[in-house]
Amino acid sequence: MEASPVEGLPEIRDGDDLAAAIGERVDFEDGDICCIASTVVSKAEGRKADLAAFEASDRAEAIAKRLEAITGESKDPRFAAAVLEESEELLTEAPFLLTATRFGHVTVNAGIDRSNVPDADLLLLPENPSESAKRLSEALGVPVIVTDTSGRPFRYGQRGVAIGWHGLPAARDWRGEHDRDGRELDVTVQAVVDELAATANLVAGEGGGGTPAVVIRGWSFGDHAGSDDLFRTEADDLVRQALREWEVSE
Ligand code: GDP
Ligand code: MN
Ligand code: MN
Repeated sequence: MEASPVEGLPEIRDGDDLAAAIGERVDFEDGDICCIASTVVSKAEGRKADLAAFEASDRAEAIAKRLEAITGESKDPRFAAAVLEESEELLTEAPFLLTATRFGHVTVNAGIDRSNVPDADLLLLPENPSESAKRLSEALGVPVIVTDTSGRPFRYGQRGVAIGWHGLPAARDWRGEHDRDGRELDVTVQAVVDELAATANLVAGEGGGGTPAVVIRGWSFGDHAGSDDLFRTEADDLVRQALREWEVSE
């Protein structure tokens, strides 16, 4: 399998035809998968925003004050307002804002980014990354995974995850298949879009490299059952349930 960055993409702006910009730089082959950083999908979809566009509600003020008290850093209540607006639910309000986005991804600050965003304060995630992936996939003629860099519980460091996908299943279901000893696998469902997103993110880098699109070549889903379950439902998510009961000590 190869993972190669698409070189030479310009700074992406509101209204740009991102698929055309990628398509004119790559000769896609059958079986290729294109991973695209949400940052440029958001830019093309006009998801830049300024703090001035958000009005600090009482709730946003209270959240920002509490974060200031805990972290000792100054917090703009309009940023809290932006996070609230982009979230289905705040899972924690301190010591940071852990959010469930409207499309199901759980991440800090609703995935709102402040790096690699010229001429604006904030970059919001695409409204519906799987719909974005579908549009891009139909234009490029290959499956598309929209990625974001995200933290994870239990471990330091961030890595790429899939936040939207189209043209391949999210997961490869090994249940019912057998390991080397003939033992039947009964729980293993491999989140392949996340593994491919992490691979692409590794190649894309996090800084000024300018390589938001990565072509995966030579990887095959193979003959397995697929599933599109990636974001846990509330009923199936013990951590989310536990966080509702959790209070940070101040
Ligand atoms: P995220 O992981 O989706 O939050 O995106 P990052 O900000 O980490 O950027 C991922 C990659 O895309 C890095 O190589 C950035 O330099 C690159 N990048 C970000 N915005 C642009 C852009 O508008 N044009 C180009 N060519 N590269 C960009
Ligand atoms: Mn991001
Ligand atoms: Mn990143």
